[in-house]
Amino acid sequence: MINVVEWVKNRIIDDEIERYTDNGRDFINDDYIESLINNANNKKPDPKKIRDILNKSLAIQTLSLEDVAELIKVSDPDLIEEMKEVAHKIKLKVYDNRIVTFAPLYMGNLCVNNCLYCGFRDDNSIIKRRVLNIKEIEDEVKVLAGEIGHKRLIVVYGEHPSTDVNYIAKSLETIYNVKVKVRNGWGQIRRVNVNAAPMQIKELEVLRDIGIGTFQVFQETYHKKTYSYVHPSNTIKGNYLWRLYSMHRALEAGIDDVGIGALFGLYDWRFEVISLVAHAIELEKKFGIGPHTVSFPRLEPAANTPFIQETRYRVSDDDFKKIILILRLAIPYTGMILTAREPKELRNELVDYGITQMDASTKIGIGAYSDRLTYQELEKQQFEIGDTRTLDELIRDLAKKGYITSFCTAGYRCGRTGSSIMDLLRSGKEGVFCKLNAVITFREWLLDFASKETEEIGLEIINKELREIEKRMPDIYPKVIEYYKRIENGERDLYF
Ligand code: SAM
Ligand code: SF4
Repeated sequence: MINVVEWVKNRIIDDEIERYTDNGRDFINDDYIESLINNANNKKPDPKKIRDILNKSLAIQTLSLEDVAELIKVSDPDLIEEMKEVAHKIKLKVYDNRIVTFAPLYMGNLCVNNCLYCGFRDDNSIIKRRVLNIKEIEDEVKVLAGEIGHKRLIVVYGEHPSTDVNYIAKSLETIYNVKVKVRNGWGQIRRVNVNAAPMQIKELEVLRDIGIGTFQVFQETYHKKTYSYVHPSNTIKGNYLWRLYSMHRALEAGIDDVGIGALFGLYDWRFEVISLVAHAIELEKKFGIGPHTVSFPRLEPAANTPFIQETRYRVSDDDFKKIILILRLAIPYTGMILTAREPKELRNELVDYGITQMDASTKIGIGAYSDRLTYQELEKQQFEIGDTRTLDELIRDLAKKGYITSFCTAGYRCGRTGSSIMDLLRSGKEGVFCKLNAVITFREWLLDFASKETEEIGLEIINKELREIEKRMPDIYPKVIEYYKRIENGERDLYF
């Protein structure tokens, strides 16, 4: 039997914080960020200055904190329109018209922490606690990979000895090993991203060796006073710096793809946006690798969690749109994840602001995919979700807007991660490989999982893409057609 108290005591290694600080100081300077925000409150932006900043974004340069503060000032509708246009152009330049889809898979809801905003917090007695065993994980993956057709997951864990690194490692191996016969081929998860509590370097090395996709840890709030308020100091999560440097440890451990994020609604959104950019700049400076993805979840209602109704920082839809625009412009190379926490109509609009990844057929109750629940069970969930569209429906809606869904997972499997992908993204060259892989993998998905309606509109997009590849890349076109035909004849998992 694991002693939870002992386990908690040994989680944080001071040296794995201190070695990254600059003479004892961390990279979030609260006073300076507050001064930028106050300044933004007082002055109107100069349109010429804003256009100069937009040109930097278009050149795929990371913006300075001062530039971000300028963008925050903008409220003029015409300038906002210009920002939207540039955001969209950046998305097309770096990621083309591709959207990557994934599903979250919650592995357990036991947690030793007491985050005021989370339904899984330890002192929330109404939650039904459970950790999936190996067989249950397989059952979930059979539905996700064999019925819905997902190729990518983000697996989510509470912080608890029952879901420690050994459990995480075992669960990842289990997921990768599930292979399900489907219509014309087989279904399999090919990339597993991990959202878990901050880890020690030696634990991260274990995950690196298994072959994970992105390792995500959200700082929740970068504002130290708010952080201490929402994360009680007698919990592991109460240690701000242990969390702040979790991406440093991941990169040091050789996990190249890291994902940062803030939970919007805990403190002033402007503070969080500037801090997320500060985080990206710090990682670029120290490791030459910025965040592979940025997430910007908004607080959602959770069972027996009154904090959510009490916070005065809840973000309006208009501010949320600005958050996404500014992040797109400020960290132009990064992937941007918009989750099903948000309602369908809003997601349909926001996708044009430079989003690159969306989840679909989302269920966040423990065991909810194989339980086949058609409703949400709040007492098993971390929070309530807003967009319940199936993957087939989302893909169809995206196709109607001209987006191709990519199931490509080649990136980490052929070394296009970390600093090598940074160069490709900044130069717009990643788009070339990815376009080819998007077409091949989308065809595969249509054959194996699509409804008739989605297949029809999907094929229209594919034909348009093929014509473009023929025109823009005549040398490689015959090879693409060869792969395409092989997929139609039943081969699977081909990529460039
Ligand atoms: N337990 C780990 C941790 O806290 O880092 C990882 C998983 S946690 C289940 C995933 C994320 O969900 C958190 O980092 C937080 O940003 C988000 N979250 C927690 N409560 C939420 C709520 N009420 N509404 C929206 N997102 C929430
Ligand atoms: Fe636990 Fe994560 Fe929820 Fe905090 S946010 S209570 S650490 S599951």
